[in-house]
Amino acid sequence: AKAAGRNRVCFFDPKMQTDVNTKAEIIQELYTAISNEQFELYYQKQIDDHGRAIGVEVLLRWCHPVKGVISPAQFIPIAEDTGLIVPIGQWVLQQACQTLARWAKQSATEALTIAVNISAIQFNKNNFVQTVLDALHHTGANPHHLKLELTESMLVSDIADIKTKMSALQQHGVMFSIDDFGTGYSSLFYLKQLPLNQLKIDQAFVRDILVDDNDRAIAQSVITLSQSLKLEVIAEGVETQAQRALLQSMGCNVYQGYFFGKPCSIDELEI
Ligand code: C2E
Ligand code: CA
Ligand code: CA
Ligand code: CA
Repeated sequence: AKAAGRNRVCFFDPKMQTDVNTKAEIIQELYTAISNEQFELYYQKQIDDHGRAIGVEVLLRWCHPVKGVISPAQFIPIAEDTGLIVPIGQWVLQQACQTLARWAKQSATEALTIAVNISAIQFNKNNFVQTVLDALHHTGANPHHLKLELTESMLVSDIADIKTKMSALQQHGVMFSIDDFGTGYSSLFYLKQLPLNQLKIDQAFVRDILVDDNDRAIAQSVITLSQSLKLEVIAEGVETQAQRALLQSMGCNVYQGYFFGKPCSIDELEI
């Protein structure tokens, strides 16, 4: 295993940046990570108004043999630049579908949905629809329990192509959520053409929702918009009961955040 095990300076620690911390090395290590299966999925619960888990979002972690658990914010941009996000994203889909198929056999978990983050690079591939269908087919997962999280910024380019791909998957039952909603520039004109199921209020608007009038106004407009478009709405980054209560009073009814549970390995997940 090429670079694995070599004990070098941790290039993820901003305090220790030296010339050995090159992007090329990170890329090399990402290749190793793929072949040595150093990735793991963490699971974070999504909770309804009654406090019941209705689904999870899967969040990627890189379990580096030397550097420990590395967060996706630190390697996804490089994985996207290099196209490595495509095989990594396919692995994520495959794993998520495997979990779905296993959960379908247990009464406590059979109704849960799994949300998977999709990168623009991945979505824009010509064979994206087929790769999702392959993951579903190979695992036997129920497509109706799979939700793909897209971001606003990826929905503004070629609307016809985007719509074709989303519709093809929707016909199989796959659901779509717009992640980080409110931070991009998508217009209602675009949105209403797309087969969406859910808007996800970005945690940037939830964080200070109790004290910041602007954040509260934006969150309220996302909730109102989702109601008029007949979409589900979920708030992410909910850390306190007060945030949850305020969001509920504003018309939100699904939540995700540390208040309900941090992302954790599947063994630690309590449903
Ligand atoms: P995201 O999709 O917006 O995910 C939400 C992030 O907020 C996650 O960070 C999660 O751990 C964190 N979070 C959850 N609850 C709370 C809370 O109550 N408070 C705070 N402060 N944070 C909370 P994470 O896991 O580090 O992921 C960061 C980003 O990396 C994700 O943002 C997503 O854009 C990307 N990502 C993660 N997994 C994947 C993946 O499999 N594929 C792709 N393409 N991107 C991924
Ligand atoms: Ca997400
Ligand atoms: Ca988000
Ligand atoms: Ca985000």
